[in-house]
Amino acid sequence: MSHSTVKPAHNRNGASRRRFLTSSALAVAFGQAAPLVQAKRKPPPPTQWRNWSGGLVADPKARFSPSDEDQLVDFLSSTRGRIRPVGSGHSFSPLVPTDGHLVVLDQLTGLLDHDAKNQQATFAAGTTLTNTGPLLAAHNQAFMNLPDIDRQTLAGAIATSTHGTGLDFKSLSGYVTELRLVTPAGEVLDINESSNADLFNAACVSLGALGVVTRVTMQNRDSYRLKVKNWVEPTQDVMDNFRSRASRYRHFEIFPLVHSDYSMVQAIEETQEPINNPPPAPEEEAALAQAMAMWAQAPTNQRRPMINAVAEQIQPSEAVDVSYKILSNLRNTRFNEMEYSVPLEYGYDCLNEVLQTIKEEAADVVFPLEYRYIKRDNTWLGMSAGNEDHASISIHRMAGEDYRPYFDLIEPIFWKYGGRPHWGKIHSLGALQLRGLYPRFRDFEALRSKMDPTGRMLNAHLRELFIA
Ligand SMILES: Cc1cc2nc3c(=O)[nH]c(=O)nc-3n(C[C@H](O)[C@H](O)[C@H](O)COP(=O)(O)OP(=O)(O)OC[C@H]3O[C@@H](n4cnc5c(N)ncnc54)[C@H](O)[C@@H]3O)c2cc1C
Repeated sequence: MSHSTVKPAHNRNGASRRRFLTSSALAVAFGQAAPLVQAKRKPPPPTQWRNWSGGLVADPKARFSPSDEDQLVDFLSSTRGRIRPVGSGHSFSPLVPTDGHLVVLDQLTGLLDHDAKNQQATFAAGTTLTNTGPLLAAHNQAFMNLPDIDRQTLAGAIATSTHGTGLDFKSLSGYVTELRLVTPAGEVLDINESSNADLFNAACVSLGALGVVTRVTMQNRDSYRLKVKNWVEPTQDVMDNFRSRASRYRHFEIFPLVHSDYSMVQAIEETQEPINNPPPAPEEEAALAQAMAMWAQAPTNQRRPMINAVAEQIQPSEAVDVSYKILSNLRNTRFNEMEYSVPLEYGYDCLNEVLQTIKEEAADVVFPLEYRYIKRDNTWLGMSAGNEDHASISIHRMAGEDYRPYFDLIEPIFWKYGGRPHWGKIHSLGALQLRGLYPRFRDFEALRSKMDPTGRMLNAHLRELFIA
């Protein structure tokens, strides 16, 4: 593949005749190549909080950043006001906004302990996933799986059942073996499956409603290397064989290109091959971004041939690196997202219906979807909690765009297939609907009111989720 700068020549469909690599295509489609544009505005009050997409803003009374666990315990036991724990602010749903105190664990970070024999490691809960990779590698350990990005804190990630993809891989919460919870009243509890199975399985996906998690022990494995292969394939073909591909590769997912017949495909397998992970070529990304911007301008009913023409020019690409550098990516362009998981057996039909609806309703969207698998786990509120594996489907809209009409159009399709919302992503469900989606939801509600009888950890959004 030549990386020489070529001014794109366009055919009559507006697509460049240049051939692109899928690694660049994925980066462009998810905005890695685009510069981060920050609107100029008046400096906000020093306590103001915004989430990653900029869609949520809050003015908490103050931020409390304990320098150690004792300070946190003193604060919780000596005050009564409202609090919300916050991680990296990468959730799209309003889990965090509060007019009380934000509790930030940015001083409680790092690897606290590791167990070489059982391949487990304990982190302070404010550690970002980015930092866990090198810290674990120093002890020949690695996480089993990671989500699409790694900027989240460990506590924030497990609080919403953050997951990657893989028929054999649970969400991160499913690999927690022990955690420390400081209750809303300031009591310190070390919990695991044998000490208190109910509280443990509830606290592994808690939405920050049961207390503040200060340390998390994860079940890991030995360090490993992964090879990622990216290519483009007709969506129908890849969906017809999705299950067998997902069995063949360690991780498998697709990014269906809306208003087209194609998907970008990503397959990851373990390898001993030498590291070879070149960064995407900027000039290739720029040319591809230009081609893609062109079909975004076209009326939706004219996009199919244009997008298909671009998709057909995308060439396969491969990279090899240590696991944590392959599993997570950089996503710099801000967007908002809705994601639901449906029982695996309905994944195919649900995705088809979403794509068909986008086409029939001429939804003016260019962002690809994302389709992944999540293995079942024992948590109470996990996206794949219970006895069934799940498939997850994500839809996106650029930050600053009104996501409501598009998300309102698609969300009922997820409900039709028994979908569960990703807690950290946008959805419109409340307690009445949620009770029917998780076998232990009512148990969680009861446990939550026992742990936090005065509701000091609730905000408006959590009230809708847990109080009908
Ligand atoms: C670009 C992007 C890509 C993403 N990719 C994926 C993906 O591939 N897979 C996926 O599943 N999700 C993904 N997400 C969603 C993200 O992983 C979750 O929303 C995650 O919860 C964010 O973690 P955070 O550290 O930013 O926590 P925040 O968003 O700040 O908080 C999330 C929740 O955690 C709670 N919390 C935080 N710290 C604590 C604590 N110490 N104790 C108790 N509760 C706490 C908060 O109260 C809140 O309820 C993505 C998000 C973005 C922006």
